Amino acid sequence: MNEVTTTPAVLILLGPPGAGKGTQARLLEERFGLIQLSTGDLLRAAVAAGTPAGRAAKSVMEAGGLVSDDTVLAILADRMAGADVRAGVILDGFPRTAGQAEALDGLLARTGQKVGAAISLEVDDEAMVGRVAGRFTCATCGEGYHDTGKPTARAGTCDKCGGTAFKRRADDNAETARARLQAYHAQTAPLIAHYRTLGVLESVDAMGAIGDIADALGTIVARQTG
Ligand SMILES: [Zn+2]
Repeated sequence: MNEVTTTPAVLILLGPPGAGKGTQARLLEERFGLIQLSTGDLLRAAVAAGTPAGRAAKSVMEAGGLVSDDTVLAILADRMAGADVRAGVILDGFPRTAGQAEALDGLLARTGQKVGAAISLEVDDEAMVGRVAGRFTCATCGEGYHDTGKPTARAGTCDKCGGTAFKRRADDNAETARARLQAYHAQTAPLIAHYRTLGVLESVDAMGAIGDIADALGTIVARQTG
């Protein structure tokens, strides 16, 4: 560990809804002292802090518009200069386009930084659809179940609280899940290509156990955080 001279690692985590990106990002934060930065959190914090970029974002959002890439980048630059960003950051939800990825590269280059790794959580689409489509939760205690993956021990009764009412989200069906995955792949393909060209793309099989996925991610991140 050499906190004085180590440049904070800049990591990008890519993964479709349901791939466990949030869980894995939290585990990486705990293990490596990284800070996860999602675009929504960044914008909210900047607006609350009233920074110049935050004020710019606020007026756009109040008018119902989309915050420009330049403003998001300015907010990101402010945040990455924060005293608590020592080990590095995990970017979640930004960049979303190849243009934003190039803009991010330019921003980082100004401080001698670059993206250390863009890690793609790889999933089997049809298996993912099956996972999502069978989900339900106990209406009383919120315990999560799955028709085939984790059924209740006694049909119609929650293992945890004995409740007999269950909820299914309307969008937890195969058709919606498949559409979400297709949208994800379409949106992410240019980013994957960008980071592959830069030689920093890493792929992790995200269909296994949470611990195994965390280990695979940890191996990659350990190389970045020294
Ligand atoms: Zn329950």
